[in-house]
Amino acid sequence: MLCDAHCHLDGSSELAALQRDEHILALINCQSPTEWETNRQLVDGHQPLSFGIHPWQATELRWSEITPYLEATNIIGEIGMDSVWTDVNLLEQARIFEAQLRFAHDHRKPVVLHTKGCERAVLTNIQKYPNRYLVHWYASPEYQADYIRLDCYFTIGPDVLTDPAVTQLAKTIPLNRLLIETDGLAAVTWAQHRPVTVTDYPMILKQSLRIIANLRGMAPAELEATVYQNLQQFLS
Ligand SMILES: [Zn+2]
Repeated sequence: MLCDAHCHLDGSSELAALQRDEHILALINCQSPTEWETNRQLVDGHQPLSFGIHPWQATELRWSEITPYLEATNIIGEIGMDSVWTDVNLLEQARIFEAQLRFAHDHRKPVVLHTKGCERAVLTNIQKYPNRYLVHWYASPEYQADYIRLDCYFTIGPDVLTDPAVTQLAKTIPLNRLLIETDGLAAVTWAQHRPVTVTDYPMILKQSLRIIANLRGMAPAELEATVYQNLQQFLS
């Protein structure tokens, strides 16, 4: 059975329906109270949701506005820091990131991490708050061994063959910590430089499985079963 360990629906009822009809287990990301409500209706109890303030929105919401959602969700994320794709002040990002890390740690909720350009800062921060971590679409050649040593889960994105750092990671992650993700259809369009539609979605996941299985010398069906089990374990 297919799974997607980090996905944005971007309001698509078609994608939610396809995931449900094809029995694809997908961890659906929500980065605002409005998106949480929308996604709850779209998945109608069929998929797990994660909620967290994304680094790009680090200054947009007050803590009191988000705590009800952090309490309601079982998974916190994606949260983290980003020095590449946003101009949001890094001190502000660090402040809301650490508050959410502390909340997740205190409430024993697993966390999905966004690390773009801030791999070292995120690594330092999570060492202060031992927890179950999923490092989403890690694409830096640096610190991979440090994150692996912390027993993190990792999602491999659809650029596994075109980004050497992602290829390297896909080969070296311990098998019981390996996951795949699309990050939503917009991210696949970006990563593969081609427009993709909802009907392409199962094929995108199968393609990642085939590529990673090939890199690791495994049968795709065996890898498919393993990453599904890994995602269930991360969520449990
Ligand atoms: Zn994402």
